[in-house]
Amino acid sequence: MLVYLESLGCRLNAAEIETLARHFAGAGCSVVDAPEAADVIVFNSCAVTVAAARKTRQRLRQFHRQNPGARIAVTGCWATEDGARAGAFEGVAWVIPNEEKYRLPARVMGRQPPLEAPLPWSPGRWGHTRAFLAVQDGCDHACTYCVTRLLRGPARSRPPAEVVAEARGMLAHGAREIVLTGVSLGAYGQDFRDLDEAYSLAHLAASILDEMTHVEAQPGTQRPRLRLSSVEPWDVDARLLHLLEHPRFCRQLHLPLQSGADATLKRMGRRITASQFAALTEQARAIAPDVALTTDVIVGFPGEGAAEFEASLAFVERMAFSRLHVFPYSERAGTAAIKLPDAISPRVRKRRAARMRALGQRLAAAYREHFVGATLPVLWERQDARGRWRGWTDTYIAVVTRTPTDLYNRITPTKLVGESGRAMRGEVVSA
Ligand code: SF4
Repeated sequence: MLVYLESLGCRLNAAEIETLARHFAGAGCSVVDAPEAADVIVFNSCAVTVAAARKTRQRLRQFHRQNPGARIAVTGCWATEDGARAGAFEGVAWVIPNEEKYRLPARVMGRQPPLEAPLPWSPGRWGHTRAFLAVQDGCDHACTYCVTRLLRGPARSRPPAEVVAEARGMLAHGAREIVLTGVSLGAYGQDFRDLDEAYSLAHLAASILDEMTHVEAQPGTQRPRLRLSSVEPWDVDARLLHLLEHPRFCRQLHLPLQSGADATLKRMGRRITASQFAALTEQARAIAPDVALTTDVIVGFPGEGAAEFEASLAFVERMAFSRLHVFPYSERAGTAAIKLPDAISPRVRKRRAARMRALGQRLAAAYREHFVGATLPVLWERQDARGRWRGWTDTYIAVVTRTPTDLYNRITPTKLVGESGRAMRGEVVSA
């Protein structure tokens, strides 16, 4: 059977679709690179915002137009949110909600694949060059705007030994960067009941960093590194912050702020205040002055008057984030926020998003400027249409360079010599 797999949305979706691809291949199917070539198309959908749900539906229509003969298996958050509607799309043969996602290969193949034999991860083979490792799913918090927690269920962590073994496998097959991902990643281990002492995300990360320290340095590339996906700020403790001192730990923390105004944070049900958030960023910068603090911000949340928005904007400026993801508030069915009064008009949301994004661009440029002349480790992932190699620093700055040398999936010390659009130009110091 020829299977094409694709995901939309978060890194957890990306990690899951790569694992599903490995299961299909382990069961003797051929994983193909284009929907046109497939007998079956597997799509891990997203519903975090109205726009994401719309994109999901557009992609389902495109799949059917591109390959009317293919049978589509749609899973993920939109399939969980609106299964009946998903099932009515032309070409859709299976609708599989999140909680049954890992039974998808069996449902599609009509038999139980040898699950214990998924093919090993390898860079770029299943999609990404960096290894996305799912360690946690679900969330027990109750942010009022969030539909993800409703579609992903309660927080649950994979056993540490299982995660470390998968990381060891990824390292053995050439992973240069492992990215830990989940829905509420920082809550990792909080659901373990039978342990004598706490086992948190920091413990898990330390175990994987130990594994990395034992990986032999390969010629032409530095030892592998570990990156964390989004971690809720209230889950960041001193143990996690001190990982920033580890040479194999990427100096980036993605801490969703959502708003810089306390009144808005309160209506959002966020378990943090602006001053607590600021204190956390000071602690992180005290440990790693160049740390990349990246974040998510929602604008136009119900009740967000002009003064609250200005306060949020000013707070974001003061935090000097290196990268900002800005989301105009999106009504999601089933969330508490949808019942809140004082909705902000879509036109105002759009205008505020443009102002917040412009600030984000300015802060990102200032952060990049700070590294001109510095030499940082860059993981090279691919060549673009102009033949330039593209990669990422550990501080999550995009870098481009031109060289005849094959830099694929290698970490090289790279001198950052200047700007190149929203990336930086780099010169590989030693390849
Ligand atoms: S912490 Fe809040 S925003 Fe994040 S998944 Fe949980 S409920 Fe949603």
